Amino acid sequence: MTALPAIKDASYFDALDAASYLDSRYGEGAPQKVIDGALKYFGRRFALVSSFGSESAVLLHLAAEVSKDIPVLFLDTGKLFGETRRFRDELTDKLGLTDVRTIKPDENDLHTNDPKGNLWVSDTNKCCYFRKVVPLDSALQGFEGWASGRKRFQGGVRSLLPHFEASDGRVKVNPMAFWNKEDVTAYIEKHRLPRHPLVEQGFASIGCMPCTEPVSEGESDRAGRWKGQNKTECGIHLSLAENSRVLSGN
Ligand code: SF4
Repeated sequence: MTALPAIKDASYFDALDAASYLDSRYGEGAPQKVIDGALKYFGRRFALVSSFGSESAVLLHLAAEVSKDIPVLFLDTGKLFGETRRFRDELTDKLGLTDVRTIKPDENDLHTNDPKGNLWVSDTNKCCYFRKVVPLDSALQGFEGWASGRKRFQGGVRSLLPHFEASDGRVKVNPMAFWNKEDVTAYIEKHRLPRHPLVEQGFASIGCMPCTEPVSEGESDRAGRWKGQNKTECGIHLSLAENSRVLSGN
């Protein structure tokens, strides 16, 4: 088996203490308070991670209301829909975001581990690891807190999400953890936010092109991701230990 690149240990401050403090201070707050609290605590050591997917406009708009200068990390795996890249550009302009950074997989890793670009056919976990987990971990060096748009109603491992959680030496911030689908829809309508162009074609959660399908009436939003596989997360929201377990098949 090909050796996997090691992910650097990011434990340079006490993430557990930070998450506990932030939760006691801002844990009951609305999403903007959560973002504002994280920004006050971490300053420039705080970033958003966005897929620029079907509901991404909401978190990005909430954050832009607090500060348009928060770094936004966008993972371009090389397998995205062209519509997603165009949506990134449209939203960035519309919201006036000043620091959107496109993160790509390491060329050497891809050359060694996925030279034909078809690793997703045989091993989606490993493909996600090289194209998402490793590049994001690398991009997060220097950040102590990062936020994403995960929500409890999306189910699975997300159903118990808190606003602040410690993971692998950083604090993960989930400003929208307690919002339901109706909250999201109402916010999009109230602020007249643009939708990802694939939403009207039935895509409810949008990732890479080979691993994303539209969903049918009554299916969960994430049912179109890795359809037919026993896989619900790409790995960027799993701990390093959980990723190791997934990759070793245990
Ligand atoms: S979602 Fe699919 S194509 Fe994208 S990184 Fe994961 S396995 Fe590869």
